Amino acid sequence: MEKFVRSAVTRFINEYPDRFGTATRWREPLVAFADAADPLFPELKSIVIPSHAAPGDLLAGARTVICWFVPFTRELGRLNYDGSYAHESWAVAYVETNRMLAELCRRIAAMLEAQGERCAVLPPTHNYYPKKLVSDWSHKSAAYIAGLGRFGLNRQMITEQGCCGRLGSLVTTAAMEPTPRPQHEHCLYLHDGSCAKCAQRCPIQCLTKQDYDRRACHLRLRENERIFEYIGLADVCGKCVANLPCSYRIPAPSIMPL
Ligand code: SF4
Ligand code: SF4
Repeated sequence: MEKFVRSAVTRFINEYPDRFGTATRWREPLVAFADAADPLFPELKSIVIPSHAAPGDLLAGARTVICWFVPFTRELGRLNYDGSYAHESWAVAYVETNRMLAELCRRIAAMLEAQGERCAVLPPTHNYYPKKLVSDWSHKSAAYIAGLGRFGLNRQMITEQGCCGRLGSLVTTAAMEPTPRPQHEHCLYLHDGSCAKCAQRCPIQCLTKQDYDRRACHLRLRENERIFEYIGLADVCGKCVANLPCSYRIPAPSIMPL
């Protein structure tokens, strides 16, 4: 079943640009699986928000949370590196990827439902509380629990394909083997205190070695949203994930040097 889901996700993403004529291309996606009964899910109520859902709140009989990471191309990362506001192509990629992720979720759910399973389809974004800026379902936290990667100083999920891309998840009654969680830090700063290039890159210094000001960051996203309103809902920035040591790979070594 795991292989079936992985190949369905990969095929869908590889075929999507030609089928739907998107300007955006994606690299090879990653797919990981969490046990819906993993004890970390209930902990999100105290870590993220008290109303954070557990998989069973979204779907009675939930057994697995399927998580995917869809990486952007290096070319897109390079384009978004310069300047203090997002590049137009980054805004386009955000809008097109949101559409693609929503369709991907529905496609995988339909495939599982055809096999007699049930699924809860979750929106890729824009499901957060405007005042608290957090939502009742965090794809990022689900991805961590599913072993897709580790958090970096930039508060993003650093996967084997880096952090320059987008996450999505789906809850299902289908039973799947959970993916082991990586045991070492992926971020250079969290590994040995080096790098911190994401913080240097933040155009408004709301990300530092010590802190992350979610509200200030959100205001920057809204500025970009106004600039790119002719494209769609593109509340983006991405300077702290584009063209950095962790953008396309895990930069920290897996074994500490002797
Ligand atoms: S840029 Fe460096 S410090 Fe920032 S998240 Fe990536 S690896 Fe960590
Ligand atoms: S998204 Fe932009 S504003 Fe927000 S922390 Fe990253 S670089 Fe800073």
